[in-house]
Amino acid sequence: MSNPRIFQNLIGGAFLPSRSGQTFERRNPADTRDIVGVFQQSNAEDVGLAVAAAKAAFPAWSQIPAPRRGEILLRAATILEARKEQYSHDLTREMGKPLFEAGGDIVEAIGMAQYAGSEGRRMHGVTTPSELPNKFQMSIRQPLGVVGLITPWNFPMAIASWKMLPALVAGNTVVIKPGEDAAVSTYNLVAALTEAGLPPGVVNIVTGYGPGAGQPLVEHPDVALISFTGSTTTGRLVYELGARQIKRVSLEMGGKNPLIVMPDADMELVMQGVVWAAFGTTGQRCTATSRLIVHKDVAEPLVARIIERAQHLRVGNGLDPETEMGPLVNEKQMQRVLSYIEIGQQEGATLRCGGGRITEGDLAHGWFVQPTVFTGVTPQMRIAREEIFGPVLSVITVASLEEAIAVANDVAYGLSASIYTRDINAAYRAMLALEAGIVYINAPTIGAEIHLPFGGVKATGNGHREAGPTMLDVFSEWKSIYIDF
Ligand code: GLU
Repeated sequence: MSNPRIFQNLIGGAFLPSRSGQTFERRNPADTRDIVGVFQQSNAEDVGLAVAAAKAAFPAWSQIPAPRRGEILLRAATILEARKEQYSHDLTREMGKPLFEAGGDIVEAIGMAQYAGSEGRRMHGVTTPSELPNKFQMSIRQPLGVVGLITPWNFPMAIASWKMLPALVAGNTVVIKPGEDAAVSTYNLVAALTEAGLPPGVVNIVTGYGPGAGQPLVEHPDVALISFTGSTTTGRLVYELGARQIKRVSLEMGGKNPLIVMPDADMELVMQGVVWAAFGTTGQRCTATSRLIVHKDVAEPLVARIIERAQHLRVGNGLDPETEMGPLVNEKQMQRVLSYIEIGQQEGATLRCGGGRITEGDLAHGWFVQPTVFTGVTPQMRIAREEIFGPVLSVITVASLEEAIAVANDVAYGLSASIYTRDINAAYRAMLALEAGIVYINAPTIGAEIHLPFGGVKATGNGHREAGPTMLDVFSEWKSIYIDF
């Protein structure tokens, strides 16, 4: 095992220890004997310094022409590309997803750097006719100032890039608090940007926990926006704290994503899609398929196929290139998943495969849970309604498309939803009726690209979208200008 790296906060271009004097360790969730890094347990004082540095960097950064800001992002894309292997390795080691998935995380950040970087050449406003003579009117985008980003551990490079890169190209400066379980990837992203020419203080990193570091960032009066991805419980608190200052808050939270299967679907395609979407990233995606809503006529043979494949998934350390499914991110998350498996059994669902922790050989040193499938699930059970964030699939049978859509919509969340059918009418009906920010036809609930808006409805979000052509909306203010001549 290699020596742990010591990570300090990045403030105004300098690496600094926390004023708290406290640090915390991060261990590889696949093998807790492996210490990945030691990080600062930051407090309000650290956050204050980081915000001050971002505020000091703002005037110069915001005055750099947007195409020039974009060029830095484009250069960072090339640097990320060259480091893909190293950064994937770091990402797998810190949060557990297999190397091939970690590579996907880096590729998404590269794409985002290209996409947001090019946006520096567009950033269009409008000009419109006036009702009056000798009057000209137009609108321009302007940055907000200092923005605070609170990012999750499940896509530590991709989601940090979804937030940071549009924020930067729009002319904002940034303080980021990465998820404490996967902060290395944020350091890697910022290292690539720094090498690409990002001036000191434009991005600042403070590590730590929610109450110590996240809350002071949300409450800091000089932070104009908080963009948060994480649990609905924490998101609600962020929203409340932000509201007290009439601060802009952008929230991306939980999901309980349904995948509907009609009898005419291609069952091989369904099986592959379900296994990937329910157990990929060990189910730790906000877009993971957690409810399989299947027509009763095809349910049993489909479930048998899914179980057959799930039982043969190669579960292990993500650093082994053979691994298909890694561990849960930490012990608490593993316990939470195991407790939901308990709850499902108590509620009367039938445990059809998995259901326990894996402790064979070296896996005893990590937080591994078997891919788990419940059948006989009814829409009112907690395992059908609450986000588990683990490799647990709840199968609900229905008798019609109408019933499938009603069940799909009958939860608090609305991130992604999917339907498998060869009937174009059924597909269109579902596409319009599903209460979700993202709908898939003949594909599972995961795999969103950066070119379309990403986000959800209901308890998943508060109306904003990330990535896609709308990505600058959260990170800029419109100014309308009237010119009389
Ligand atoms: N990239 C993910 C997807 O598959 C979205 C992020 C997430 O689920 O947390 O759509």
